[in-house]
Amino acid sequence: MSETLSEYIERKLKEAREAGLHRRMREVARLDGAQVEIAGKTCISFASNDYLGLSRHPKVIAAAGKALEKYGAGAGSSRLVIGNLSVHQELERRIASFKKRQAARIYATGYLANIGTVCALVGPGDAIISDSKNHASIIDACRLSGAKILLYNHNDMNSLREKLIEAQSFNNKLVIAESIFSIDGDIAPVGDVAGLAKEFGAWSMIDEAHATGIIGENGRGAEEHFNCTGEVDIVMGTLSKAVGAQGGFIAGDPELVELLTNTSRPLIYSTGLAPAAAAAATESLKIMESQPELREKLFENVTQINKMLADLGLRETPSETPIIPVVIGKEQDAVKAFEKLFDKGFIVPVMRYPTVPRGKATLRLSASALHTPGQLTQLHHALTELQQN
Ligand SMILES: *Cc1c(COP(=O)(O)O)cnc(C)c1O
Repeated sequence: MSETLSEYIERKLKEAREAGLHRRMREVARLDGAQVEIAGKTCISFASNDYLGLSRHPKVIAAAGKALEKYGAGAGSSRLVIGNLSVHQELERRIASFKKRQAARIYATGYLANIGTVCALVGPGDAIISDSKNHASIIDACRLSGAKILLYNHNDMNSLREKLIEAQSFNNKLVIAESIFSIDGDIAPVGDVAGLAKEFGAWSMIDEAHATGIIGENGRGAEEHFNCTGEVDIVMGTLSKAVGAQGGFIAGDPELVELLTNTSRPLIYSTGLAPAAAAAATESLKIMESQPELREKLFENVTQINKMLADLGLRETPSETPIIPVVIGKEQDAVKAFEKLFDKGFIVPVMRYPTVPRGKATLRLSASALHTPGQLTQLHHALTELQQN
C-alpha cells in the first residue's frame, strides 16, 4: 500500500525521533578556530576537522583571495572542457610532492574522490576487500562500483588475509582502508595492509582524510608514519580537513591519474574545484611543510586531552591521533551529554547510528592546535561536572 509523500516523510522523521537518531543542523554565525558562535552563544569547539587551524591562516586566506580575483568565484566548467586552471595544476603538483608520488588528481570533495576512483578501478566480477569500519563515502563507492564487497574485521590482518583468500576467484581485487579511522581515531597498519594485498595480487588504497598533515614526521600521512612510503598503490585524501580548504585528491602513478582523467565520472561530469579553494589548499600544504610547530602544538593538546579523559575514567587507552572518542552507549544518553556540554559552552559532537553501531553512541572530541591551555582546563571542569550528575 502506498502512502503520500508527506505521510512517508512524517513516518520517517517520527521513527528517527523515537530512536534518538533525529538530526538537525545548527546555524553557526561565526567560525574562528576553536571558537564558534551558535544561537547567539560563543562556544569552544571540539568538533572541527580543521586540526591545525589552517582554514583561518592569514597566508591561506590571502592565497584564496588572490585566486578569487584572478579567476573569479567558479571554475566555469568541467576540467575536461575549459575548467582546467593553473591553480588546479599547481595544487596537483604540490599534492604529488607532499605525498611523495609522481602525480595527483583533485576532485570537488573527498567523498567524490572515493566514489570516482573506486568506480573507475573495479566493477562486476571484481572484489573489494574493505575494513568493516570504513567511512560512508567508501561504503557508497564500493556499492556503486558493482564489485563484490568483502568486509574484514577492523584493523585485523588475519581477517584481511582470510578475505583475500576468499576473494581469489574474482578478477581484480582492491583492498581499501582508512589510515586514521574517522570515528575511532586509530591508525591502520598501512604497510601490512599494502604488503598483504601485494602477496595476493590485489591492489591497495588508503583514505588519508584525517591523516594528511597530521601523522608522519612531516605530516605526509600513514606511509611516512610507518616508514613505507610508496608501498600503497592509491592514496586518497581530502583538502577539507587539516588542509582547511575544500576538495579531495588521489595521489599515485601518472598512469593511474591518466585513467581517472579518462574514466572517472565525478571528475568528468562535475565542475572543477573553485579556484579559491584550490589556491588555499596549495598554500596550506606549503605551511604544513614549513611549520611543523603547528603539528607539535596539536599533539601537545592531544596528550592533554588523553590525560584528562584517563583521569576521569572516560577512556582506557590514549588516542594516537587528534580524534578522541568517548563511548557513551545509549543514543538518548549521548544526546543528553551533548546538550549539557552545549549549555556549558562546548561543542562536542555525538556520533550515532548509522555512523556507529546502535547502542554505541559516542562523543567524539577533536583536538585542535588552536585550543589554549585555558580552554582545555574549562573542558576538564565541564566533563567533571557532567560525571557528577
Ligand atoms: C571526511 C571524510 C571523507 C570525505 O571528505 P570530504 O572532503 O569532506 O568530502 C572521506 N573519507 C573519510 C575517512 C572522511 O573522514
